[in-house]
Parts: sequence; C-alpha cells; structure tokens
Amino acid sequence: MSLLDAGDRSPWPWQEAAWQRLCRQRRQQSLAHAYLFCGDSGAGSAGFLHEFANLLLCEKPLDQRACRQCRSCRAGGAEHHPDLLRVMPEEGKKDIGIDQIRELTEFLSRSGFSGLARVAIVPQAERLTLAAANALLKTLEEPADRTFLLLAAISPGRLLPTIRSRCQILPLPGPDPASAADWLRQQAGQQQAHLSEKALGELLEACGNRPLEALAALRSGKQEGLAATRRLLHGLLSGETGILKVAADAGKIGEATVFEQLSIISTIVIRGLIEDAWQNPENRSLAEALPGKDRTARLAALLEFHRQVTEARKLLAGPGNPNPQLLLESVLLCWQRQGAEQAA
Ligand SMILES: [Zn+2]
Repeated sequence: MSLLDAGDRSPWPWQEAAWQRLCRQRRQQSLAHAYLFCGDSGAGSAGFLHEFANLLLCEKPLDQRACRQCRSCRAGGAEHHPDLLRVMPEEGKKDIGIDQIRELTEFLSRSGFSGLARVAIVPQAERLTLAAANALLKTLEEPADRTFLLLAAISPGRLLPTIRSRCQILPLPGPDPASAADWLRQQAGQQQAHLSEKALGELLEACGNRPLEALAALRSGKQEGLAATRRLLHGLLSGETGILKVAADAGKIGEATVFEQLSIISTIVIRGLIEDAWQNPENRSLAEALPGKDRTARLAALLEFHRQVTEARKLLAGPGNPNPQLLLESVLLCWQRQGAEQAA
C-alpha cells in the first residue's frame, strides 16, 4: 500500500530532475535495462518506482506521464498489473530471499500481457540476501528484451558491487528542509491553515524531515498529539499533573503511541539543546523547565529520559509481554522526579 492516497502522485517536486532524465532517455530510446535509485525512503522512492513502471507500461502516455485511461493503465494500476512484479520482504521476514528472485527471473522471461514491457521493482534492494543478490546478478547479465528492473536502496553501499556496476545509478534525493516545509504547507491546505510555520517545521522535524511521513502524520492528527504530550511533560515537571491521571489518559490513546510521542519530543528537545536552535519556542520552554544549572545538565537529564523511553519501547515491542501501563508509569516517574529534584 502506498503511504498516501491515490490523489498524491509521484514524481514529487524533489524527484523532478530524475524523472526528466528518465523521460529524456525514453524519448531517445536509450533506457537502461536496470536502474538503481539511491535515496531516502521517506521521500517517496517507492512511489517513484511505481510511477515510472506505470509510464513504461502505458499505451498512450500524456505529458510524460501514464495516461490512467488506456487498457494497460486500467488494468488495475501498476499495483495489480500482470506485467509488473513488486518484490518486497515477505510478511514477517526482514530479507528478500532467493526464491523471490527466482520468481522475478521467471516473471521477466515470460511474454507480457501488454506487449509493451515487463517491469520488476525492488524498492528495498538492500534487503536482498547474498544468495538472492547472486541470483539477481544472472538476470542483470542476460537481460531479456523490453524488460526493466528498477531497484531502490537507501544504502546502496550495502549492495554487491557487481549489482551496482550492472545498473544505471540515479540519485533520488529528498528535499532540503526549507523546500520540504513549503511543500508541506501547500499540501496541508485550507483545513490546516491555522497551523503556524513553526508547528509545521516541528512536525517535519519529528518525522526526520521525511515530507511524505509528515503529511501522513498531519492528516492523522499527529501534530495535535505531540502538542498534548508536551503539555503533559510540562504538567509533570511543575507538579500540576499527576502520574496516575496521565497513565489513565495514555491508556485511551494507546501506550505505544504515547511512547512514540515521548521519543519524538525528547529527540527534538535534545537536538534543540545541542544546536541551540528551536523551530518551536514551546520546546525551548520545556527544555528550560528541566532541572540543572546549565545546558549540559539538562542535556544529561534528557538523554537519560530518552534512554529509558527507548528501553521501554523495546520491551513493549519484544516477546516478554510486559504491562504497558506499568512501563509508562515508571518512565513518567523518572521524568517527574527531575522536577521534584529541581524543587528541592
Ligand atoms: Zn495509459
């Protein structure tokens, strides 16, 4: 499933250079048999691969885009197109195994449904096992006519050098923070017009500057969740809020979500303290509410809190089946104690 709904289509503005280059090659009939796109996963590389596959399979492209009208485009979109194979780690597995690559090889050797092309995409190519990568090499060495292999990797250095050398490598970078914020503002539209530049900047920061993730977070109300969590942390430090009340409220939202928000907020405040730069003044005020005479002491307190949150999240996701409410209470107690120390 794509991260966003069908109205949001790649190529995104920051992918335009790579898209134009591919379109030029297509016009000049000089497309490579295999591509390796290198870039940030959160900036929409999987969507880019799909959209390019759509274009390769379209019977009547319009303005260098798939037409969405022809028989091929109507065949359910690229996700279900009989001439398109998407290879991902199977459910419950981390890696792409050799059997999946054998299937890919077999798929590319068959004659196609549209007669236009056969396209296989591997959005997380660094997940190939060594055996799978070696099997893929054979396909790369003996490409069948009108077949295309589109690989994407965040860390292409983890791929076999022999795979890299047989692909045309195209960078697929994410946007710089300023362009990402502009884009997010445009996408947020009227409904979110009340959000300040700072709030959007903070959301982007919370999502590791991955704009698509930030947009999805905006649509799911994550921004409000972060603000609520920050208020909660303030309340605990000042003694206005009690742990039991917080833990009970957290139970309604879900402890995993609250832990995620605690992790994001503490990461943002840690970064703010290190760089002494703040997108959102509310984060600075949270940092200043922490005990300690200076920045170093506050940083130490926050790093310890972040370590505890990370540890608790690991436990929660692990097989041990811990009590989530108790975990949350113990983490919040550590936070509250810092406020108490300050008051003492
Ligand atoms: Zn079409």
